Amino acid sequence: MDRCPITDAASELSRLPAAVEKAKQQLDELFKKARKEVGEKDAEIFQAHISMLEDPELIGMIENLVTEQHINLEAAVWDAAEHYAQLLSQLEGEYFQARAVDVRDVGLRLVAVLQNRPFQPQLSLSKPSIILAKDLTPSDTVQLDKTMVLGFCTVEGGETSHTAILARSLGLAAVVGCPNEILELTDGSLVILDGYQGKLYVDPDKALLDEYEKRLEAAKGLKQRTLARCHEPAVTKDGKRVEVVANIGNVQGAKTAIQHGAEGVGLLRTEFLYLERATMPDEEEQVQAYREIVKVFGKMPVVLRTSDIGGDKEIPYLNLPREMNPFLGERGLRLCLTNPQLFKPQLKAALRAGEGFNLKIMFPMVTVEDEIHQAKQILDQCKEELRKEGKTFAADVEVGIMVEVPSAAIMADKLAPIVDFFSIGTNDLTQYTLAVDRTNPHLIHLASAFAPAVLRLIRMVIDSAHTCGKWVGVCGELAGEPLAIPILLGMGLDEFSMNPIAVPLAKHILRSLDVPIAKRIAERALTLPSAEAVKTYVRQEMQSLSIEID
Ligand code: PEP
Ligand code: MG
Repeated sequence: MDRCPITDAASELSRLPAAVEKAKQQLDELFKKARKEVGEKDAEIFQAHISMLEDPELIGMIENLVTEQHINLEAAVWDAAEHYAQLLSQLEGEYFQARAVDVRDVGLRLVAVLQNRPFQPQLSLSKPSIILAKDLTPSDTVQLDKTMVLGFCTVEGGETSHTAILARSLGLAAVVGCPNEILELTDGSLVILDGYQGKLYVDPDKALLDEYEKRLEAAKGLKQRTLARCHEPAVTKDGKRVEVVANIGNVQGAKTAIQHGAEGVGLLRTEFLYLERATMPDEEEQVQAYREIVKVFGKMPVVLRTSDIGGDKEIPYLNLPREMNPFLGERGLRLCLTNPQLFKPQLKAALRAGEGFNLKIMFPMVTVEDEIHQAKQILDQCKEELRKEGKTFAADVEVGIMVEVPSAAIMADKLAPIVDFFSIGTNDLTQYTLAVDRTNPHLIHLASAFAPAVLRLIRMVIDSAHTCGKWVGVCGELAGEPLAIPILLGMGLDEFSMNPIAVPLAKHILRSLDVPIAKRIAERALTLPSAEAVKTYVRQEMQSLSIEID
């Protein structure tokens, strides 16, 4: 960064407004491009970048640096962005680390505009390549030519980093949290990136290359075959029909889900409506948003999860107090029960949008029975209010809960009679059972939903639901894991809800299994000592049954 003293601060600062405008235009174009490629939700990051450029604190700091420290505008922009990035990266949690990357990204863009040069020389790829980087900013990722990108590998980032999110929505391989040494590799080095096992092989020998070439061909073939049959139901070899549905967060996800053969939605994450904006969405806006989604599914079921704010999902305009342990704090249903101004408009919107559709309502983060009674009471109040307002709504919606806190799993037999269904959130159930922060990249080795402790809780929940005649699904990532499918089927799971892209393979695996065999696999898995042992065992079983999974 060129840094030079200036004498005329006013003239130096006069360059700022036009540069900010130009950077905003560029970001708006990127937003439109990203919306087409990866959908509204993931594209919203560019709108967030535009808001950063409108942030009076950031702009004020730039102005102060120029007027008080008499430095050139480019340096002031860089220093201000760096200052905020540093503040953000000192906060705990992946969310803030990602925001730090965003502020730097915005700063670099503004500097490039001021210097009248394109923002970052576009990484132009002339042949299919694997991208190795410290971290990838949203601008990097969206500008890359996706037809040339085979996968990503970064030093920074975790499960919810932009790299991982983008890779997932594009169906590409990605490995995050790699050692710094990957940055020393020269362009054109030969590497193998194994997204299934989280491995990067450098300078592989011929034998390894041949093995992976074969696996790649097999994976491509498998993908084509599973996609070709993705719209057929998942019926096991011995005739059991299992529901395979999707986890989505917006209309784009809804469309992808349908294209990949999902038979509805097992988890509609509604937080997308609240994040990256300045005010709370009102009831009408929510009715429109939910209706747009349920319309895509017609008569298929759509399970709408009420907002799961808190934990790593912070909503600035709610001004929630900072907590020492946000994942153990006022999150999900806990927050909704104490904030009816947040909860009621959402419930009323869901009831209204559900009219004429197969919408179900689900509460996240249930810990004790009383919370369910309270939530249902508020739902009844909402129905009463809608009646008085003369608005039509779905009066008989099914009401279920997520089982993602161990206390709810342990007490499932007591909770089952008062709900219509359970959906097991294995992402949180894993973090709370094993006491591992799900966003901490240093604890990846412990944070496995295949841990027998988690599997045993899942079995308890399924048994309790069935004893009471209720259906039960899994909407955590585990449901879409090929190695988990025989175990969950064997435990009697009714509904598998997953990332839309995972649906075709999940259906294929279910069609290749018999329930008695799956039962045997599940029983054995529950006796094993570790997550790794479970995975190794199921992999062997799948091999001996000649079921392809990758
Ligand atoms: C879960 O916890 O498994 C879940 C599906 O919810 P989320 O990932 O949104 O917390
Ligand atoms: Mg959860």
